[in-house]
Amino acid sequence: MNEIHSYYLKLSGKKKLLVFLMVFILGVIIGSAFNSKEENLELEANEYQDNSYIENGQDSTKEDDDENEESLMDLIRELMIEEEIEDDEVIVVIDPGHGGEDLGTYYRDMLEKDLNLDISLRMGPIIEEAGINVVYTRTEDEDVSLDERAFIANTLDATLFVSIHNNAMPGNPNYRGTETLYCAPQTPVYSKMDGQKFASIVQKNLVNTLNTIDNGTLHRPNLAVLRKTAMPAVIAEIAYVTNASDRELLRQDEFKQKAAQALADSVFEALEVMEAKVDEEGVWRVQK
Ligand SMILES: [Zn+2]
Repeated sequence: MNEIHSYYLKLSGKKKLLVFLMVFILGVIIGSAFNSKEENLELEANEYQDNSYIENGQDSTKEDDDENEESLMDLIRELMIEEEIEDDEVIVVIDPGHGGEDLGTYYRDMLEKDLNLDISLRMGPIIEEAGINVVYTRTEDEDVSLDERAFIANTLDATLFVSIHNNAMPGNPNYRGTETLYCAPQTPVYSKMDGQKFASIVQKNLVNTLNTIDNGTLHRPNLAVLRKTAMPAVIAEIAYVTNASDRELLRQDEFKQKAAQALADSVFEALEVMEAKVDEEGVWRVQK
C-alpha cells in the first residue's frame, strides 16, 4: 500500500485527480453496499419542501451519523489527501443532482436526474477549455450520496461547487422559472466570494441567458451539499418539469447548452471577483 501511495504522489496534478476519482468511485461502489438510500430520498423530500416553501430541516440529524460511510471516507482521505494538487490551484466541482435509483423530480419520462447530468456534461467542457480543473461527482446514471458529493469537493479543497438540479411544483403546474439556492457560510473560506454572492451571479446569468422567470436566490441552510461544502456552493434549479412551457424548453438541446454556458460564465465571473490568475504555465490559481 505504501508503494502505491508514493507512486501516487509522483503523479502530476491532473493524473492524481484521475487516480483519486478512480479510487473514490471504487469506494463508492463498496460503500453503496451498506449505504442506505435515505439521504437521497431526503433531498427529494427537501426539494418538495422547497417547492412548497416549507422549512423543517428534517435532514439535520440522520445523515450525520452514518458511521460506516464516515470510516470509508476516512480510509480514502488517509490514502489520497496528501499533496493531491497545489493548494492554490483552481478546481470546479460540478454536481449533477440525483442519479441511479434516485430519480429526483420527474414528469412522465422526463427525469430530473437525466436533465441534470446532461446540463452538467455540457458545462464541464466549457470550463476545461479555459484550462480550469473540473471534477464531476458523477458522470453516469449512478447513486452518489449527499455526503459523498460534499466529501469530494472538500477533499479536493475545490474552489467552487455547482450543483445542477431541476424543480417541480406538485399541484401547481403554472409555477415555473429558475432559482438558485445557497447556504450562508459560518466562516467564509474566501474573502471576496461566498455561497450567497456566487448564487447572485449564477441566478443573474441564468435568467438573463435563458429568459426564464426569475424566482431569485433562496437561503437553504438545511440542504446537505450546501451546508457541508466548505467552498462557495450553489444549487442551480434550472426550470420546472411540472410546467408545460419550462418542459418544452428542457426538451431542447439549445436550451440546455445555454444553461451550461450561463453556469460556466458564472464560474468565470466568480473567479474574476476572487482575483484568480493564470500563471505562466497556464494554471489557474486563486488565493484564500
Ligand atoms: Zn433535484
